[in-house]
Amino acid sequence: MDQSFKPTPRTRVRRLGKRAHYDKASVHAVLDAGVLCHVGYVIDGQPYVTPTLYWREGGRLYWHGSSASRMLRHLKQGVPACLTVSHLDGFVLARSGFHHSVNYRAVMALGTAQLVSEDDKHAALEEFVERLFPGRWAELRPPTRQEIKATTVLWMDLDEVSAKIRTGPPVDDEEDYALPVWAGVVPVETAIGRAKADPRLLDGIALPGYLERLEALLAPGRMEGERLAAVG
Ligand SMILES: Cc1cc2nc3c(=O)[nH]c(=O)nc-3n(C[C@H](O)[C@H](O)[C@H](O)COP(=O)(O)OP(=O)(O)OC[C@H]3O[C@@H](n4cnc5c(N)ncnc54)[C@H](O)[C@@H]3O)c2cc1C
Repeated sequence: MDQSFKPTPRTRVRRLGKRAHYDKASVHAVLDAGVLCHVGYVIDGQPYVTPTLYWREGGRLYWHGSSASRMLRHLKQGVPACLTVSHLDGFVLARSGFHHSVNYRAVMALGTAQLVSEDDKHAALEEFVERLFPGRWAELRPPTRQEIKATTVLWMDLDEVSAKIRTGPPVDDEEDYALPVWAGVVPVETAIGRAKADPRLLDGIALPGYLERLEALLAPGRMEGERLAAVG
């Protein structure tokens, strides 16, 4: 099985190409570390970029929303789309303004969205919930036919895709390393906070195990959070 995406003229990283990754493991790792993507598409010559949640299953990306959503109604017609996911990992402070940078992991996927069929929608939505909160779907009131109908789920093949990743310290001009200027990396992390119970929660309902596991990841004494990447 081919373990890499083939760069195309549209996905070949030209600027700082050494940061490019086309192997599936790298692309999947960036995608699986996030939940929020931005989907770009053009309606009547006007580009729109819509933030929305997504999830990956095998070689496909999925996203969902109200069947009344303009974004989803437009994309399900099979128009060209561009979906990006990015994680900011740190501010990189160099000894000159020019060499300041950020550490990041990003994926850009091009393609056309497909509609998940009525028959497959239920399973897709279950996968979405279970990916974040394993065991929760079985606890929930099952969706009604009307709720499923009111929800559109789209998928796009991961095919024309690139990852771009920067890690590590600043890269300064050799002569600048002699300057008395602080240089280094300020890490940036995505935090998950402690769960806050709904004021209308029935008495006696304990925190579900999947949330206890999330809370166990919280680092004591620090910002109450942990990278989403550490969750699964
Ligand atoms: C973190 C996050 C997660 C989200 N997750 C989902 C999701 O999983 N599913 C989902 O359906 N929606 C999600 N949304 C909302 C999504 O961004 C859209 O608002 C929604 O999908 C409706 O799209 P639409 O094309 O029908 O919007 P319309 O209401 O038709 O858009 C009309 C205009 O409203 C404005 N607008 C619409 N959305 C936004 C926005 N997000 N921010 C600022 N202006 C806006 C723009 O000017 C746009 O041109 C999420 C938003 C955020 C910020």
